[in-house]
Amino acid sequence: MPELPEVQTTVNQIAPRLVARTITAFESLWAKNATPSAPAVRRGVVGRSVRAVSRRAKYVVVELNDGGWMLVHLRMSGRLEWHDPAADEPARHIRAAWTLDNGDRLLFCDARKFGRIVYTRSLDSVTTRLGVEPLSDEFTVERLAALLAARSRFLKPLLLDQSLIAGIGNIYADESLHAAGLHPLTRSDRIGPAGVAALHSAIQSALRQGLAHNGASIDWVYPGGEMQQHFAAYGRDGQACARCGDTIIALRVGQRGTHICPTCQPAPRGPRRGKRRSNNSQERACAASPAS
Ligand SMILES: [Zn+2]
Repeated sequence: MPELPEVQTTVNQIAPRLVARTITAFESLWAKNATPSAPAVRRGVVGRSVRAVSRRAKYVVVELNDGGWMLVHLRMSGRLEWHDPAADEPARHIRAAWTLDNGDRLLFCDARKFGRIVYTRSLDSVTTRLGVEPLSDEFTVERLAALLAARSRFLKPLLLDQSLIAGIGNIYADESLHAAGLHPLTRSDRIGPAGVAALHSAIQSALRQGLAHNGASIDWVYPGGEMQQHFAAYGRDGQACARCGDTIIALRVGQRGTHICPTCQPAPRGPRRGKRRSNNSQERACAASPAS
């Protein structure tokens, strides 16, 4: 799934050709992805020009000149790309298309059909439930500390909770926790000031690194980025940790594939860990228990 760096890269790619153009047509080839409905999206966008294109959390946000907003969430496999009349092969899995006044066509391709196109007059109605932007000035160490201390949740599912911190998904959660030396099943209220500072720095570094490499092309749905060549943990199970040489292992945390270095990210100690056996497979079974 595209995360903050991949969505921001998409924004960077489409904005120059989209801003200041007028949308002359909207075709829906999969009406279920449109909110409130495909006709409502068409009525909202056709005839309007694009004032700006930006990102909020994992949404591409298109600001229209009449005060309306169109948001696109790529979800699992969505992708925004320009129609290329000279392409050898036509784009596949087209679910929607916008035609512009200069003839350009922006395509929404989405093999798995989980992506969403939202038209709204109130941006807040969509974004009010979203947490802090992790690369914004509002995301301070103090704010992260308060956010972690107010809960007693496992770190990995907390980082994936878009209502707390917006834009982090599986890749950048694993990369952040590895860089911070924190196990994904550490309780958020037990990591201490040094751990909070390390996590804050690691989240921002991982996202900035992702942005610098135009995101990660980890599967066929998101081409172009090179972040996957710089992963320290994500998807590297069986390979050596670049920091300590131990072998990266895969766990499941809250139904999500998770990758850690067992040396750099030791399992949390706590009352329930008293019965822990020295056997490594037992420890991994504990670590793989469902997250709350
Ligand atoms: Zn390591």
